[in-house]
Amino acid sequence: MKKYLRKLIPYSFIQFIRKTKCTIETFLYSGNDFECPLCKKQFRKLKDGGESRSFFKDHKIIGGGRRKNMLCPSCLSTDRDRLIYFYLTTRKELPNKEVTLLHVSPEHSIKDYLTTFQNINYYSGDKFEERYQGFYYDKTTFSLDLTNLKFPDEYFDIIICNHVLEHIKEDQKALQEIKRVLKDEGWAILQVPIACENEKTIEYQKMSSQKRRSIYGQSDHMRLYGLDYPDRLRSNGFKVKEWRASDLLNGNQISKFALNNEEKVFIITK
Ligand SMILES: [Zn+2]
Repeated sequence: MKKYLRKLIPYSFIQFIRKTKCTIETFLYSGNDFECPLCKKQFRKLKDGGESRSFFKDHKIIGGGRRKNMLCPSCLSTDRDRLIYFYLTTRKELPNKEVTLLHVSPEHSIKDYLTTFQNINYYSGDKFEERYQGFYYDKTTFSLDLTNLKFPDEYFDIIICNHVLEHIKEDQKALQEIKRVLKDEGWAILQVPIACENEKTIEYQKMSSQKRRSIYGQSDHMRLYGLDYPDRLRSNGFKVKEWRASDLLNGNQISKFALNNEEKVFIITK
């Protein structure tokens, strides 16, 4: 029933409802203790968010599970989005050079930021779940299969693909496609949730979705990445650089912007 209702409701109306809710909550949360770097607004606190199942906490999964002060009440940036934003500010080519960029499963706040740059030839795509089509994304986000990209070799200077690989059965195939469409001098950000006490990635794509949900907390995840994640990237021929918020910001700033300094940004090059 819900999915049929979603098809009937225009995206512009959904955006209107979301914006009205955000305007009210921006007022309710206003204060001076936290600041969102993406919308530049200040708050007494941010909204809590993320999956509440205990699995994420029990397995110390970085980038997943319930987090305090996770969501900006105004632009809905998450702690993950704000971290990526700060990394992007360190890339000097962004405001200065003509670049072609692919943003996979685009986070709205990051998309709004990137599309302000005149020099970025911006593409966004997602393998739509039916419930998201025209509901979660606007029409500028096209349907895309990361294991079979319809782009020529070496087409993109930059690829941003956050929290997508864990949903893909053939993540190695997706990595090879990313490598194929990335220019030799290009770079990509590839974030996934990582169980920081697991040495090895656990694959569970062959389980039923009910079993995945009951054991691993989320039915649409195909695996739980462990500390071997950078090695999995390297085994696909990538060089991997890791970056943390503390490489740029001090402790007070990390608290003010409600960032998770445990979460590393993985930047890959060929
Ligand atoms: Zn914001």
